[in-house]
Amino acid sequence: MIIDYDVHHGNATQEMFYEDPRVLYFSIHQAPFYPGTGLSTERGAGEGLGTTINVPLPATTGYETYEPVFRQVMSPAADRFNPQLILVSAGFDAHWKDPLGGMYLSTAGFAKLTGIIIELADYLCDGRLVMVQEGGYDLQAMANCAATCVNLLLGDDAAVDNLGPAPTTQWRINTDVLIAELRRIHKLTGYRMRNAPKPDIERLRREVKGPDA
Ligand SMILES: [Zn+2]
Repeated sequence: MIIDYDVHHGNATQEMFYEDPRVLYFSIHQAPFYPGTGLSTERGAGEGLGTTINVPLPATTGYETYEPVFRQVMSPAADRFNPQLILVSAGFDAHWKDPLGGMYLSTAGFAKLTGIIIELADYLCDGRLVMVQEGGYDLQAMANCAATCVNLLLGDDAAVDNLGPAPTTQWRINTDVLIAELRRIHKLTGYRMRNAPKPDIERLRREVKGPDA
């Protein structure tokens, strides 16, 4: 499985594995933006249909949208695919300080997203995870994110961050609608991760009926 959080869509990576069911490619990227590919309807073809997942998001999207996409779209898709290895296209150009990208991720945001990926690798494939540095056009932001990721891979969750939080977004995406639509497109509606805790049906029943039932 390849996880690509570089701000650009990984058009070449997608192209390589578009018809290959052995590789799940997941990309979250700014759109509209160079190179113009990576619509959510691009899902692979032939035997590879369903093993490409694209999440295009408008400029100034931040962690509050990335996180639910990672937890509720990427994670269950990975769980279903059951990868032997996770590769990360670790571009840091979605950092708010980046002069090319227009996204609002902070170094702390990148750290938390990378933490989700590390958890996923631990749970799905015995921690087999390779991160490859890609984009990043603000040297300070890139250095902070790269150092933070190395810390995380070494088991230390300290973020190296002297740039602070992203600017406040003027508007917010309705993430509930976004997640529901992405889960519909990728046939994940109702999917339960294998390690999800079993629902306590009795407790739910009591809550619905009230204490006197
Ligand atoms: Zn890039």
